[in-house]
Amino acid sequence: EDDMMEEILASAAVTNSKRDLQSIHNSMVASYQINIYLKTLAKTGFLAQRGNSINLSKLGKIAAKHFLTTSKAILIKEGVVSNTEPMDIITSLELFDSAYFKSAAQISKSLNINLSSRVFQGSSLDILFDGETLSKLNPTLQDRLLNFATEFLTCGCKGSPFCGCPERKFSFKLLGLRGEGLSPEAIIDILEDTYGVTAYTGDILDYLEKAVRNLDAVLMMAQAYSKSDVYQKSITLRKKLEG
Ligand SMILES: [Zn+2]
Repeated sequence: EDDMMEEILASAAVTNSKRDLQSIHNSMVASYQINIYLKTLAKTGFLAQRGNSINLSKLGKIAAKHFLTTSKAILIKEGVVSNTEPMDIITSLELFDSAYFKSAAQISKSLNINLSSRVFQGSSLDILFDGETLSKLNPTLQDRLLNFATEFLTCGCKGSPFCGCPERKFSFKLLGLRGEGLSPEAIIDILEDTYGVTAYTGDILDYLEKAVRNLDAVLMMAQAYSKSDVYQKSITLRKKLEG
């Protein structure tokens, strides 16, 4: 549904006629359904409808231009108008979750368990950081995993560690290291040495690219809604992330 609304917004960027819009999407959805989508888009502030005529709002134009889903566009707009830090906005849009325990095999063997190497998937965090588990590992590994727990698993949420905070903090860390001018390879070295966690260069590059693309949308939104503070901060952050 989000995708469909994104497509309708994209077509509304090239035509103001509701009839045109219906014929563009005719093969995919029935006209009455398009009407429902249009009503939703109007209600959420993406466009205005009058008779056969459709006009994209400021928000609608930005969403169409940046191929944002409506939910993403709303998140960005709300973040921008409430002066949220750009870093908080982009990490709420996209998280880095492709982190792996470097020593998953070794840990599994010495604890006689089956630990998945994906840090943020399944029950890895629960298994590894449950009570006595860590103390059975070698001191270096213990230190690293304790660093990990201290930095990423110390929120007070009831659902911790499955509350989203660990991934968010980890993404923050990654973007922060990039902001210090480190290459993906150097970032991986630090992750391994400090936290016993690793990642693929390609996954990191991919995440950085997405972060910059989302930041562009934040920039545009800040400009459209005259939020010069958010705009300036986004420019600075963008420069840092691009290295
Ligand atoms: Zn939490």
